[in-house]
Amino acid sequence: MQAAIIGGSLGGLTAALLRDLGISVDVYERSPLELVQRGAGIGFLPGSQRYLVEGAGISLDAISVATSRLRYPTHDAGFAYDGPHQYRFSSWATVYRELLTCVPLDTYHLGHEMAGRGENSTGITVRFTNGAAKRAARDTTRNSTKTGHRGIRVAIRIARPELINAKLM
Ligand SMILES: Cc1cc2nc3c(=O)[nH]c(=O)nc-3n(C[C@H](O)[C@H](O)[C@H](O)COP(=O)(O)OP(=O)(O)OC[C@H]3O[C@@H](n4cnc5c(N)ncnc54)[C@H](O)[C@@H]3O)c2cc1C
Repeated sequence: MQAAIIGGSLGGLTAALLRDLGISVDVYERSPLELVQRGAGIGFLPGSQRYLVEGAGISLDAISVATSRLRYPTHDAGFAYDGPHQYRFSSWATVYRELLTCVPLDTYHLGHEMAGRGENSTGITVRFTNGAAKRAARDTTRNSTKTGHRGIRVAIRIARPELINAKLM
């Protein structure tokens, strides 16, 4: 099975970990350069931590900090709220960099903006604005399986939430 993941930010790089299930994965990012941070820290939720810690063996403390209190300051140097609150924070760039180390670089394609896709009886093609195309042939051997599997699938993840992980076949 093959997967083409459109968008090489945190979501796309996380989806690329499908590779660990034996899926052949390529990630296509429209930016011609590796992505850079655009803001402050990000909340680092358990779902985002899991692969890096359990899969890649990275220390949670090496890539995030723990906070123990939540405070809402007021203008008079007091606090509208001050109470215990366990949370983890990281930086976007840290999470991006660590996820990138889990993905073979020859499968992370910068400068590839998806322009469209199509399919016919022989396979699926994803087209990019730079003229490149990713084609996956239909796996005819799977057509006869009892599962009714229709052959190869290409999972397309793009930035629009309603199309996340939409299956082409
Ligand atoms: C570069 C960047 C820096 C950020 N920095 C911070 C930060 O410092 N702090 C913070 O709190 N939040 C930050 N965010 C916001 C938030 O953390 C991200 O939105 C978060 O990474 C969500 O990840 P995502 O993969 O779901 O979506 P996004 O991060 O929005 O990534 C979508 C990716 O898809 C690519 N893409 C879109 N359309 C196409 C197409 N047709 N073909 C190919 N590629 C396509 C985009 O270029 C983008 O890289 C940042 C987002 C980005 C993109």
